[in-house]
Amino acid sequence: MAPDLDRDAEGALTYVCVPGCAYTGSTLLGFLMNAHPECASIGAATGLTPKVEVETYHCSCGERFADCGFWQRVGRRTVELGHPVDVLANNYWTTHFAPTRNRYLDGLLVRNLRNAPLEDLRDRLIGGLPPIRALVQKPAECSRALAQAILEETGKRVFVDTSRDHQRPKLLASSPRLDVRVIHLVRDARANTASILKHQTTDDTAEAARIWERANRQADAGRKHHAPEKWLTVRYDELCGDLQGTLDRISDFLGVSRAPMPEDFRAVENHIIGNEMRMGGPGQVHEDVSWKSRLSDAQLEIIQRVAGQTNRHFGFDWP
Ligand SMILES: [Zn+2]
Repeated sequence: MAPDLDRDAEGALTYVCVPGCAYTGSTLLGFLMNAHPECASIGAATGLTPKVEVETYHCSCGERFADCGFWQRVGRRTVELGHPVDVLANNYWTTHFAPTRNRYLDGLLVRNLRNAPLEDLRDRLIGGLPPIRALVQKPAECSRALAQAILEETGKRVFVDTSRDHQRPKLLASSPRLDVRVIHLVRDARANTASILKHQTTDDTAEAARIWERANRQADAGRKHHAPEKWLTVRYDELCGDLQGTLDRISDFLGVSRAPMPEDFRAVENHIIGNEMRMGGPGQVHEDVSWKSRLSDAQLEIIQRVAGQTNRHFGFDWP
């Protein structure tokens, strides 16, 4: 086994989490961050999802995923680092916080219990049971190995994981070798709800608005586990409306130099996994405002009732 080129000498590895709701623009943010000379992103570091067929799946570089040299080298390096990540596995990688692979047991050990005091008690109990603590922390060690392998491969120093799992920042921060920073990306409830409906996660407007509300509330609730200077909330409309200004704000937050955004963010070498956006489309940022023509007045009323207050909470000027 090769020696672990530990970054401890220079401090913990900077690892960025992006919790929040689906269809918020996190894949876009991953591309933008990857175009920064000091940051690397591969999308969601929880890995390939169960519906991916590895044989036919393509990396954003255009190669068939199984043939992509970047991923072959990264996978091998995690083995050398002592925390193997089989990047060809679908149904998520060892980086995903599903330590027992039993839905109910994992739910009990690491998921949101929808009761903060109970959750704190659970976390304290696990902290006092070394074998279980080690089991729960294993995905954090694998995530660190993956991040380190990718940073070595790209010659960059900050890793950006766009997985939206809101428990992930807290669980990763349990590793003293990770300096976890959180960017909570939030999109206006109307735009995000319309996008959830468009992607047919549900056809019920109230349910789509509840998905938005719950995901953002849960992400925001994670704040208490992190120092204030490690947490940044970014609005999708700000990112699109003032791209360079918002990226500079993110750079300052991460302690990297401000860098001009390249004309085409896709032109920077990338190996991103995730939704179809990885394979093509414009290399510039355009805010998707199609919700304005897609939502009826009745739907807007429903969204206002379900998510209006939370939308205000995040600084949007509606309702
Ligand atoms: Zn690739």
